[in-house]
Amino acid sequence: MDELIDAYLSNNLECSYYWDLWNGIVIMEMDEAYTGEPGIDWDDPLNEDRYISIPQIDTNEAYDVMMKFAKHTDSDPKMQLFNALKGSKSFQSFKDTLSRLDLWEEWGQFERSYAEDEIRSWIEKQEQIGRSVKELFGVGKKGRNELKRKVSPKKTMNISLPDLELHAILRAADDIIAEGGRTQLAKILKGSKEKKLLELGLDRNPSYGFYRDLTLEKIMEKVDHMIRTDFIKTELGGKLPMIEFTARGWAIERERRAEELLREWDHYLDNKITPFSMDYLKERNRGMIFLFLFKILCSGDKKYIPFLQMWEKFDVKKVRAAIEQVIEDLNRRDRLGENGWHQMLEERAKSLIVRSTNPIFLTCQECGNAFVFDEFDLSCYTAEGLRFPEKCPNCGYHEGGKQY
Ligand SMILES: [Zn+2]
Repeated sequence: MDELIDAYLSNNLECSYYWDLWNGIVIMEMDEAYTGEPGIDWDDPLNEDRYISIPQIDTNEAYDVMMKFAKHTDSDPKMQLFNALKGSKSFQSFKDTLSRLDLWEEWGQFERSYAEDEIRSWIEKQEQIGRSVKELFGVGKKGRNELKRKVSPKKTMNISLPDLELHAILRAADDIIAEGGRTQLAKILKGSKEKKLLELGLDRNPSYGFYRDLTLEKIMEKVDHMIRTDFIKTELGGKLPMIEFTARGWAIERERRAEELLREWDHYLDNKITPFSMDYLKERNRGMIFLFLFKILCSGDKKYIPFLQMWEKFDVKKVRAAIEQVIEDLNRRDRLGENGWHQMLEERAKSLIVRSTNPIFLTCQECGNAFVFDEFDLSCYTAEGLRFPEKCPNCGYHEGGKQY
């Protein structure tokens, strides 16, 4: 808040102040001619959402504030400040008078509290036009005094749904990406018997009926929560907004789908079943298929080799090469020793884990700063699914998940 007030009160015309909504800090942008560095790239549409311009006090307003102070302070019985403002060069003589009367501190408090009120109503307006800026420093519904207290970022963060629900909603969304909207997603989760849903075979989705006992309205709230916490989003497809994964939503879903494929193979092997063909693995999302291969590799188990060999015959060149490599690596397992094996896994991660097109930004639960998720960090891939680190590298990263 202090920084916002400083920005508001600064009447420096050469620079503008912006609020970086991704990590809640105030930044100052000066003309490139002064700094020699390029400023914010406004051609990038992402930046339009990321930075909002902080209002600054203008000259008339500044004059009014001085006038108000001059009229209301009890420390200036002879109205010297008031008289100073009436003359020419009023700003300078106001300041001189402040010095003479030793009122700088009182003035400073008055001015800041005025600026704070202005900033607060500006934030209200931002909220009204749909920008959730409050949570950036926890203004919330609490009173003024709360505002001065430092709010820990943990409390102000949007907490995501429990893993079980998170995974279920992502799985339901997976079958309607770019084809269905929020309502359809909610209906799958509800287990709706609607004709259209059944025609599309959406009742075969594993998450069909996951929220059977909730009202559609409550389910919609969960769906919207998933949108707010940045796991899914809606994008205009034709006339209607359609569900899409965000980078981090897809990272989680992709991992779950790859895990699903692996468990399926385990099931076949345990029951001595051989799939008739591996065709079902063709034309699936490449990132997911490669992650599946990586999981097979990480198991270090040669039992998968016959299936891999079957699959290899069917798939396209690039996937075939990856499959061959995994077979070769599994065969080398015993010769490599523990260290060599882990070193190799880390190397393979770089080719088999396909990086998302957009970086995945996470918010540190400790300091509140944004940081980019390192998708190659193998300790984040746990048996229960992908775990995003809670802390940024500066704050000690995460307290190690179960090793992959
Ligand atoms: Zn941190």
